[in-house]
Formats: sequence, C-alpha cells, structure tokens
Amino acid sequence: MAETRSRLRGKVHRVHVVSAGPYSLSMTEDLDCLTCGACCRTGTDGRILIPPEDLVRWRQMGRSDIAEAIQPGHFGMVAFATHEDGACVHLGANESPNACQIYEIRGTTCRDFERGSRLCLEFRSDAGL
Ligand code: SF4
Ligand code: SF4
Repeated sequence: MAETRSRLRGKVHRVHVVSAGPYSLSMTEDLDCLTCGACCRTGTDGRILIPPEDLVRWRQMGRSDIAEAIQPGHFGMVAFATHEDGACVHLGANESPNACQIYEIRGTTCRDFERGSRLCLEFRSDAGL
C-alpha cells in the first residue's frame, strides 16, 4: 500500500520505520547498502519525502540545486525527484551505483531511515535481495 511504503519523518515515520525487531544485530550488520540501494529506488510517485527545513538548509549552504530537484510527494509534501526507473536523482556515484551523491548532506528522511528495519527489509525483498 503506497502510504505505508513512503519514507516518512516525524510521528508517522516512527510508526512505519521500526528497529531491527526480530532480526539479529549481526544480520543487520550484514546488510550492505552499497550492494543494495533499494530504499533509494522507491518509484516515481514521490515517496522519499523532504521536510521543509531540509530545503532551507540546502539553500543556506548554497545547494539550491538540491532544493530544486524535487517533485510532489505523498501527504502534500515534496519528495526527491526520481529518474524514470524510480531511482532518486542523487543515487549513483563513482564508488558505487548504489552510493548517494549527497551523502554527507542528504535529507533528514534518508538519515533517519534504519538499515535492517522492517521497511528496509521490505524494500530489499521487493528488489529480490
Ligand atoms: S534498503 Fe536497507 S540495506 Fe538497502 S540501501 Fe536501504 S537501508 Fe541499506
Ligand atoms: S538523497 Fe541519497 S540517500 Fe536519500 S534517497 Fe536520494 S540517493 Fe538515497
């Protein structure tokens, strides 16, 4: 269901993005984001949401290009723009096609997303990982 698969922040984020739960810590540590990237390829309909303060932050640091690479997102918010294949426009760097080009200054939603969470594992499963 689309609403439960969005990457959210704040209250709803805490509802849907949970910690590793029944999965062991070692299993979570085994998950390699650089061979995955599934959570950055969530589709073209604006699921990776951006809070307004991130837009302000990027503009203040002279990265209006990031603040402008957006599209309408779920719940009336804005989201990262995507390519036709559903990947975030910031996905893919020299080190890996699954690396984030703006990792150090990425969005709050991206920072808060928990590797090994239920949603992480769902994205991985959907991607055949
Ligand atoms: S889905 Fe999980 S393992 Fe894959 S890149 Fe995202 S956080 Fe990392
Ligand atoms: S900004 Fe980076 S971490 Fe966030 S969705 Fe895009 S590629 Fe992934």
